[in-house]
Amino acid sequence: MPITSKTRVNINDRRMINGTDADVIQLYPIKHKFAWNAYNAGNANHWLPNEIGMQRDIEQWKSKYVLSEDERLALKIVLGFFTTADSIAANNIVLATYKHLTSPEARLYLLRQAYEEAIHTHAYQYIVESLGLDEGEIFNMYRERSEIYNKAEFILSINEGIFNPQFSTGTLENDQKFLENMVVFSVIMEGIFFYSAFAVMFGFQRQNKMVGSSEQIQYIMRDESQHLNFGINVINTIKEEQPELWTPEFQEKMIALIKKGVTLEYTFAQNVFPVGIFGMNAQNFKNYIEYIADRRLTSIGLPLQYHSKNPFLWMSEAVDLNKEKNFFETRVLEYKTGGTLNW
Ligand code: FE
Repeated sequence: MPITSKTRVNINDRRMINGTDADVIQLYPIKHKFAWNAYNAGNANHWLPNEIGMQRDIEQWKSKYVLSEDERLALKIVLGFFTTADSIAANNIVLATYKHLTSPEARLYLLRQAYEEAIHTHAYQYIVESLGLDEGEIFNMYRERSEIYNKAEFILSINEGIFNPQFSTGTLENDQKFLENMVVFSVIMEGIFFYSAFAVMFGFQRQNKMVGSSEQIQYIMRDESQHLNFGINVINTIKEEQPELWTPEFQEKMIALIKKGVTLEYTFAQNVFPVGIFGMNAQNFKNYIEYIADRRLTSIGLPLQYHSKNPFLWMSEAVDLNKEKNFFETRVLEYKTGGTLNW
């Protein structure tokens, strides 16, 4: 791409999408401060899977007395979903979103986010390896279990268009297509599809079971809530910069997609917990997913659809991670006991 102008970059020319070519290669002037803040927050929250001790999980997984068959299956299905989800996320960032966002600070954050998705995939690999699970079973689950396949297929089928090398923003139709991708990727994939799996893992944690695995997931959830915030900010910035995209028809379409996402997520939750464990049953999950979806809808300026109450109040504490909780206390402890840190 040639540098199109020899004059200094004007902050008012900066755009989340459809900025000029020369803008993209220079960080300053920073217009979208939320992206710079997200980048710094990501760095401050840096972690690696093998910093977390897995010895107790290994003992609990081996023991016949700690976990029920339903709990074992739930853990495996959750991992089966996660292993695919973070790879889909990484591809979306690197092969589609990055190319079309023309805000250098947003691109800077995407580089950080892409690395975090890799760390998440690493975390699932580390759990699978530590517990001695069958890699073939876990990593193929998205092909073999319809409730995971349907979620992955939903995201991929809608986002397919912007992966096309010929796709570019700059027309009303394509800009809406890109915005739709952001809604599907951030709001539905990162904002809804991860959350019943998160709830399952905190169910384990609350029973003092599989605490190493749940701690990994807690770090992942902290990263994911940052990814979601970033995505919501990108969507709202594009809406501000190009209000013509946010037509009533487009809004109706986004609401319908989010509702479809809720249905898929509820089907997934029912299959993970066919009988209900940890005091969480199908109805609780339904209400929880609807509650989460309502929050996501409001965050991008769409009307509430469900008005459901949060049945997992303890999740708000675990989800709203900006308050840091005791992360660093547990992490310091794990540093001392972690077997791989004798460097
Ligand atoms: Fe993510």
